[in-house]
Amino acid sequence: MAKILIVGGVAGGASCAARLRRQDETAEITMFEKGPYVSFANCGLPYYIGNVIQQEDELLIADTTLFEERFRIDARVLHEVTGIDRANKTVTVRDLKSGETYDEPYDQLVLSPGAIPIRPPFPGIDTPGIFTIRSVPDSNQVKSWIEMHHVDRAVVIGGGFIGLEMAENLVHRDIKVNLIERDKQIMPVLDREMTAPVVETLEKNGIGVLLGDSVTSFEQTDVDIKVHTEAGRSIHADMVILAIGVTPDSALARDAGLELSGRGHIVVNASMQTSDPDIYAVGDAVEVTHAITGEASVLPLAGPANRQGRIAADVISGRERIFRGVQGTSVCGMFDITLAATGLSEKQLAGSDFDYSAIYAHPNDHVGYYPGATPISMKLLFDNSNGRVLGAQAVGKKGAERRIDIIAMAIQKGATVYDLEEAELCYAPQFGAAKDPVNILGMIGSNIMRGDLRITPWEDIGKQDAIVLDVRSYSEIAVSPIVNRGEVKHIPLNELRDRLDELNPDAPIHVSCAVGARANNAVRLLNHRGFDASLLPGGTLTLACLNYCSDDGSRTTKATPAHFDPLLALHEAISPLSGLPVWLLQEIKAAGILREYCLGQGESITLKASAITDILVLANGEVDVVELDQITRHLSSTESRRRPVKLSSHESKTFYARTPSTLYRIDQEFLDFFDSWFAMVENLAQERPDLEAILGDMRRPSVFMNLPLSNVQEALKRTTVVEARAGDEIITQGDTPDNFYIIIDGAADVHEVGLLSEDGAKLVNQLVSGDHFGEDAFVIEGTRSATVTLTRDSTLLALDGADFKRLISQPLDDHVDHNTAKIQVDQGLKKLLDVRYEEEWYEERIPGATLIPLPELRARISELDKNQDYIVYCHAGKRSAVADLILKNNGFKSSWMLEGIREWPYAVEKGL
Ligand code: FAD
Repeated sequence: MAKILIVGGVAGGASCAARLRRQDETAEITMFEKGPYVSFANCGLPYYIGNVIQQEDELLIADTTLFEERFRIDARVLHEVTGIDRANKTVTVRDLKSGETYDEPYDQLVLSPGAIPIRPPFPGIDTPGIFTIRSVPDSNQVKSWIEMHHVDRAVVIGGGFIGLEMAENLVHRDIKVNLIERDKQIMPVLDREMTAPVVETLEKNGIGVLLGDSVTSFEQTDVDIKVHTEAGRSIHADMVILAIGVTPDSALARDAGLELSGRGHIVVNASMQTSDPDIYAVGDAVEVTHAITGEASVLPLAGPANRQGRIAADVISGRERIFRGVQGTSVCGMFDITLAATGLSEKQLAGSDFDYSAIYAHPNDHVGYYPGATPISMKLLFDNSNGRVLGAQAVGKKGAERRIDIIAMAIQKGATVYDLEEAELCYAPQFGAAKDPVNILGMIGSNIMRGDLRITPWEDIGKQDAIVLDVRSYSEIAVSPIVNRGEVKHIPLNELRDRLDELNPDAPIHVSCAVGARANNAVRLLNHRGFDASLLPGGTLTLACLNYCSDDGSRTTKATPAHFDPLLALHEAISPLSGLPVWLLQEIKAAGILREYCLGQGESITLKASAITDILVLANGEVDVVELDQITRHLSSTESRRRPVKLSSHESKTFYARTPSTLYRIDQEFLDFFDSWFAMVENLAQERPDLEAILGDMRRPSVFMNLPLSNVQEALKRTTVVEARAGDEIITQGDTPDNFYIIIDGAADVHEVGLLSEDGAKLVNQLVSGDHFGEDAFVIEGTRSATVTLTRDSTLLALDGADFKRLISQPLDDHVDHNTAKIQVDQGLKKLLDVRYEEEWYEERIPGATLIPLPELRARISELDKNQDYIVYCHAGKRSAVADLILKNNGFKSSWMLEGIREWPYAVEKGL
């Protein structure tokens, strides 16, 4: 009876153990795991930290009891193998619970010790709050740190799989994240241009992406950790996640004299045998061969570890099995996009002997006529000598991984672009297309191989005496012309045959459209007519991706491919929105000021204007505008961006989508405000240069939205900039008020001891950049109603109480008496909002009113409807005046009721 020992009880080790038992019912199998669990899901750890996976035991795929009961495998957790005696064929094991050490003999030994996260010896690396993620206990430490230290800001170091997954999951926990990557791109498995939509997605979700900069040291401050970088940045964080790669855990193998590679991986043959034929090694710790190049390679992923574990088991039990090598197939999901890759990237090919071509396509994941189609940006690399597929990358909202899986299998079988062209793949409208994206890549590649199509890489434009011919439509060019690429001639494809005399037959012509399909038709047409035409692969969408990451690592947000996000298309096309930073537009959307309506094909929506004029812009798709049962206008997105639809006061229009469409609704006053905001900041900068940068970065300047601009300018001129530290109490409940404050960059907690509260100070709100506080006491002419304490170092603007009243509060003051309020509410023009405490509400209230107590109003303001006009009331009129101001500062229409419910002469409701 063979005695087999396995070191490491997770991906490779556990797979090997279970397979061994299936292959050999008599073997004595013991598996040692130094951690507390066998067979846990490392891949799920980031999601466990993000609370997407809520329970620790959901990560545990199998436990020691299951191994014992189902497989008769002796799985010993908290047992570390500390040495191997190859001569006597024994291992030394330490029982980590009892501290005892013992020897265990083996016939065959399998090593699957995995890899260790890299933790470089930077100054300050041992500062508490700096974590790496490998195990369940690591993840539990991160979770407790987040909870115990109320983590608000984190720095993630490293832009690979784990870095991105961690960044996303920290955002799920409302943590603001900065991601630092030493390279000039994130996601090393992709070529740089393919990362454009990934960076865009990170930034859209509020993650700061700092490329081409590396961490040099960490510093513990009184309240947080400062992360210092080579470029001179000092970034404050409450927590740091290091995700800069792994190193093989091969010390045991090294000490036993097994052969290691230069980078410390255990060297194995294709049967997973180490330099000692009785010792096998699998998983992250080993070096294997690359399936395409045949060179030594590593791929620390779960798939190879599991497959290698099974192969080692088969070989031990007497079968002949060969590991085929790795080819780098990988996938990562992040927010709403998926990126996937297989085979060699262009970066890798550029330094190799391969003569290769790189082609791009941006097909939809399924046919456009079925609702919900989204584009996938794809890149294929193939060998020019025989068409063999060498690598592929895909990024998109849906279907990217399915296409890469198909191509991964094709690569494994040595397939060519002709095979991709002919591949018979699944198709029904909701799943794909009769020409699947994989077929399309194969067709382009095959056209090139057969000599029907020539391509010119975008990077080569301008190297020769050639022109770029853009065959897109006039409206497409109006939105995003090709710039900085030498001479560009525009002839829409449908006009090309009639305008050939405008082209020089002796000069090369490089043809582009949006994605490459129309350009392919144009190239064929031109070549048949004797022109020297070639295709610019992937069209302007690929160009946008290439522009996105310039050589110095900086990015030009404007060049971002608009099709990845209709909001970005809108941003590019509409003035003054195009003058706003994209993050601000995101916030405006999140705040409900800019509303988005997504319509599937055939769906319709009826929109009614509020009291003011709304503007409707179609960011993508095609709709019919229906008024009084008549189609009055047909709208395409390009036309709509130039000539938006207006929805005037109380008018209603129905929009019927002919194709999947995204419609945005913006209020005209808001556009006017922003148009003037930046002009005002510039104007103000002449007198207060210190404010220019602050105001340029100011989030949600909507605090001033309802004020005359002259008042805003005057108020800002009179502010003072206050730099304060985490922990500072800016205002204290009960104190006489001094200033009104706006948080430019920072965060604060608001605590209040309520009149009717017996529980002491209660956290009633958490303020972030762009929020303001301190107005209550001026409006009610009393003392401070709450205490505001900074939770991180912050920059505030302070405005003196007298200036606040004169410039902000009085111009907005808008009250109504009981009779007017009653008439307006009865006529359905306005709605009542009660801002008293819950207890007062149960005692008596005005029928039909909504309750949100004043201290909770800022935090719960999203529960109110921006299209509704509110009359706010309280007991005697003071709290409602404050609430009225808060509502106006947040873009609501409101007034407040003089004298409150105390003097209300009409019927009231009582009790529960
Ligand atoms: P491991 O699964 O790490 O197992 C090694 C085990 O050996 C460890 O538990 C260790 O405690 C134990 N051990 C080491 N030395 C000894 C000793 N001397 N005595 C006893 N026990 C010992 N891969 C993917 O394919 N997709 C993903 O989405 C993905 N996400 C990941 C997310 C995270 C956060 C992490 C950390 C990894 C992720 N991976 C992912 C990688 C994947 O988990 C690894 O490639 C895989 O687990 C490697 O298997 P292994 O058996 O080599 O090592």
